[in-house]
Amino acid sequence: MGTTDSAAGSAGWIHVREVGPRDGFQNEPERISTDDKLLLVGALMRSGVRRIELTSFVRPDVIPQLADGAELLDRLEPVPGVSRSVLIPNERGLDRALEQRDRFDEVSVFLSASETHNRKNVNRSVEESLDGLRRVLARAGEAGLRRVAVIATSFGCPYEGAVPVERVAEIARELRDAGAEEIGFGDTTGMANPRQVGRFFPALADALGPDVELTAHFHNTRGQGLANVLAALDAGCRSFESSFGELGGCPVPAGATGNIATEDLVSMLHEMGHGTGIDLPAVIAASREAQRVIGRPLGSHTLVAGPIDWNARA
Ligand code: ZN
Repeated sequence: MGTTDSAAGSAGWIHVREVGPRDGFQNEPERISTDDKLLLVGALMRSGVRRIELTSFVRPDVIPQLADGAELLDRLEPVPGVSRSVLIPNERGLDRALEQRDRFDEVSVFLSASETHNRKNVNRSVEESLDGLRRVLARAGEAGLRRVAVIATSFGCPYEGAVPVERVAEIARELRDAGAEEIGFGDTTGMANPRQVGRFFPALADALGPDVELTAHFHNTRGQGLANVLAALDAGCRSFESSFGELGGCPVPAGATGNIATEDLVSMLHEMGHGTGIDLPAVIAASREAQRVIGRPLGSHTLVAGPIDWNARA
């Protein structure tokens, strides 16, 4: 089976959202120049990726790495069929983003399932976060944007330990009722295991009904990212987030790896007969370019090993 066959996806179509330009660049110690970001984002948007998270409208003094969000959106050439998403932390962020309403297609909002993580992350209780996100989601809907809500620490919290699936479902229902068309579940510090994931997605699908897309956001913190992807697939999940080059993803503890790599995810999905629309060599080329820009080797396996060549002859 080669890339051409697997692109057709005999085992079914899987959505992949590339989050490296936000989740990855935000976690780099050095600021990446806007010119370099445009180069990398452009390469990703031409690789067949259908969904891409470009930046976040957080306060520039909080995350200086993404302070050029408005300029990036302004200068980025749209690619037909590629949905551009931005992360919105609060209403002020939405106000700023809406000044460029025609430069993106989707918003993502976020909160944590556990109180302690939410307080440490955004200095609010979960209930206070939900109140704010309801207003953001309502206004984003009025602006005609697709709405994604991401729940961090869905599979466990580094401060509180276990997070009951009923609690995640309760928060997810609130977000659905507030207008989210898609709910993402983040394994923020890599605590999920495949058995847990296999129980999680059917429970959430039951709780949310058929009109909400469920998306998995796994981290490879303990090397279980792709095992969790397979468990989620078997449990009916058809949408995943990943980051080219394995960039970013909340490295806690310091030095830990974060997001699963897009090229590792796409390689596995294609080998299993799923279609993504993504050209694997093109993503690998983008990650290689990111290595050059950032000046250090990146962690993805497929970037090192390359795609499988089934037509190889000794
Ligand atoms: Zn992540």
